[in-house]
Amino acid sequence: MVAEIIAIGSELLTPHRTDTNSLFITDHLNRIGIEVVLRTIVGDDRERLTQALALALQRSDIIITSGGLGPTEDDLTRECAAAALGKTMYRDSSLLNEIEERFRSRGLTMPSVNLRQSMVIEGAQVLRNPRGTAPGQWINHDGKMLILLPGPPRELQPMFEEICIPLLQRTGPPSVLLARSLRITGLTESAVEELAAPIYTQYNNPVTTILASPGDVQLHLRAKASQYSEAKSLLDELSCQLEAKLRNYIYSTNGDCLEKVVGNLLHQQGQTLAVAESCTGGLLAERITDVPGSSDYFLGGFVCYSDSWKLNFLDVPADVLEKHGAVSEPVARLLAEGVRKKAGSTYGIGITGIAGPSGSTPSKPVGLVYLALAAPKETQVLQRLYPGEREIIRWQSTQAALDMLRRMIVSTMK
Ligand code: AMP
Ligand code: MG
Repeated sequence: MVAEIIAIGSELLTPHRTDTNSLFITDHLNRIGIEVVLRTIVGDDRERLTQALALALQRSDIIITSGGLGPTEDDLTRECAAAALGKTMYRDSSLLNEIEERFRSRGLTMPSVNLRQSMVIEGAQVLRNPRGTAPGQWINHDGKMLILLPGPPRELQPMFEEICIPLLQRTGPPSVLLARSLRITGLTESAVEELAAPIYTQYNNPVTTILASPGDVQLHLRAKASQYSEAKSLLDELSCQLEAKLRNYIYSTNGDCLEKVVGNLLHQQGQTLAVAESCTGGLLAERITDVPGSSDYFLGGFVCYSDSWKLNFLDVPADVLEKHGAVSEPVARLLAEGVRKKAGSTYGIGITGIAGPSGSTPSKPVGLVYLALAAPKETQVLQRLYPGEREIIRWQSTQAALDMLRRMIVSTMK
């Protein structure tokens, strides 16, 4: 059984309102093994909405709508759904009483516009809404299910969780949908694809998708089965092969971000870190301290942007700065070693580079970055040339520095 969602409301087609209901519904459907194959946003337009509903009824088993059940002229979902189904509507007097009572209990009389909210599609089950006046409706038609839900998330969410999910669980064979995310850094999207595609294309279940952003590629695996253990073993089998192929490029198999993975490693090893950042301006420290509990292993960082700070606070000798320039291998090394020594930490990281758009020279282009890691036994320095904008260069630099540290800690654990 597959589902599609139609979010209804002209405001959702503007930049001011986001359709969050669809995400909520998708999450809860996935948990009971129902896949969402299509999501649409339709404005408050009679013809387009009727068309969208009619099309959905042709192609999907479960259609869930949100919004357009209010009392005003632009709330058209009931009427359009009835038209798409070829059914009539009737006034449900007990529903009308409830809506009137809601107003009465607050010392108000029901405005006549609310009358429309007591209109029910022939054969529909009414989904009571104690948190608002718009009830939902559930219609079974030609083996399909059409579920109309109110727009306000605080009304939709309990209605969907408490009434719809239990009913949906009873309709089909039990099934679960399990996802796993393998996160990779140090390889481009196409390099990952080249290594991984020959493996994952052999499987229809799990389904694999690649998501890529600068410095980070994710292989997203989704398995469907009748039982949790079966879905898990499907994921395990494919994941195991991918891990064997991509080896150390995979930094997490549970979706954790790199700063969290590095943080866990430092915590497990009882080790500490300090950083000296130039072109990343504190971004590395920010990422590290985004992780709750980072005070266990992160001692602190210098943002040594100017030459004088590199000299005065991290003891980078003036003649080295003069001879090699601030963006150079020796300066990165001295920053890492300097901050490690100052902090008394297990590791020190130094980053210096040209984030652009200005500051480049013929021999030192925008995107040139030196990353240094000072460890107890050695100091490593990497030279990188990142394409892209300032923000991306800075991000990639922190990603590579964190990965250097991850690889170092993992290698000392072997
Ligand atoms: P309606 O039932 O169409 O009158 O919607 C009432 C209110 O619910 C709207 O003004 C929005 O604030 C909210 N809403 C409607 N649809 C959505 C959606 N898909 N995601 C989040 N909020 C929504
Ligand atoms: Mg609306």
